[in-house]
Formats: sequence, C-alpha cells, structure tokens
Amino acid sequence: MTTHTRPSRVVMASSNPGKLREINQILGGLGMEVIPQSEFDVPDADETGLSFVENAILKARHATQLTGLPAIADDSGLEVDALKGAPGIYSARYSSRSGGTGTGTTDEKNLQKLLQDLKDVPENERTARFQCLMVFMDHALDPTPLICQGTWEGHILFEPQGKGGFGYDPIFYVPSENCASAELAPEVKNRLSHRGQALTKLLAAFQSAG
Ligand code: IMP
Repeated sequence: MTTHTRPSRVVMASSNPGKLREINQILGGLGMEVIPQSEFDVPDADETGLSFVENAILKARHATQLTGLPAIADDSGLEVDALKGAPGIYSARYSSRSGGTGTGTTDEKNLQKLLQDLKDVPENERTARFQCLMVFMDHALDPTPLICQGTWEGHILFEPQGKGGFGYDPIFYVPSENCASAELAPEVKNRLSHRGQALTKLLAAFQSAG
C-alpha cells in the first residue's frame, strides 16, 4: 500500500476565502503550512467532473502540477432533497447556471435563488446536507490520492440567520445546535461541519500511513 506522510508544506487548491479560512483554522495549529494556490498564481482548475470526488481530484492534480508541492483540494456543496440533490456540485455557481437574478455577492445570489426555489416547500420537506470531498495528492501522477468525505445533515430555513461562515451558512439549520450554521462560533462549525469531518479523517489517514 502506498503511504502518505503528513507534509510540512502543502498547496491548497482553492481560492474561496471562506474555505481557506476554515481549513487554516484546523490545519494551521498542527504545524502544517497551508499555502493558497493564488500565492503561486495558479488559476482555478476547470471543474468538469460530474461528482464531488472527480472535481476534487482535478483541482488537487492541477495545483500540485503547477507548484510541485503536495496539494489538498476541497470540493463541497449542498444537497437539498426536495430539489433531487441540487445544487450539489454546482453549489458555487447555482444562481448563474439557473437563470437566477438578484443583487449582492455570488453567495447571496445563490442563497436567494435557493430560497426562491424552495418557497413552497414545507419545513418537514426541507432536509439537506453539506458534502465535502477532501483529496490529498503527493504529486501530479500520484496513483493513490487520499480521499476523505464529510457529511453534515440539517435543513433549509425560510430566511437567512446569522453573519458567520460563508455560502449557504445563513440558511442551513443545524438541529444539534438549534441555530443556523452562520450563527455558530468558528470552532463549533469546524468541529461539526462536513469540512471539519473530512479534514479529521485526512489527518488520521496521514498518521496511519506514516
Ligand atoms: P466548490 O468551490 O466548487 O467546492 O464550491 C463549494 C460551494 O459550496 C461554496 O461556494 C458554497 O456555495 C457551498 N459550500 C461548501 N461548503 C460550505 C459551507 O461550509 N458553508 C456554506 N456553503 C458551503
């Protein structure tokens, strides 16, 4: 079995400031230097895959290929049952794909589009989950990337609540905490979230491999 030892420096294949902040909060304290790909002028990879795992591998391979450093990529998104799993892998570009309108940041437009799509869906049918696929590759031809998944169950609120987090956090209700994800302290979100779960598994995979 190919082993992957935990690197001291890694390139993060993302330009999403919310993701980068959370990943740094979790990995930074462990003595791992996490460098965003933008610091090497690496452009975003084309996300041409049809699943989270395909896109995470494409992003990690692209970043390690262009920097020569080991890479971590996070492909994540929100699956809403009443929408047959949409926005899914298209979560970051939901409003622009589906003719969404409105003002504000892309995150706000996406969130408003989702609320609009769910306006007639009652509370008990608004179940949803965040998915995160975290991929680590040692180099561009790494034949055995580490692949870890985290899933966070909740449901979609009728109105945004809270100012923390990013993306769909203001409309993602977390039953165990009785509030929206955007109302959680960052350390609580990192402990519970899809991303926190996937990173915890990734760190364990390094340790058992090393
Ligand atoms: P990606 O960059 O293609 O992986 O897109 C991820 C998108 O999923 C983000 O732009 C957000 O819209 C959404 N997303 C992923 N994780 C979270 C989260 O922790 N909170 C809120 N939205 C998230």
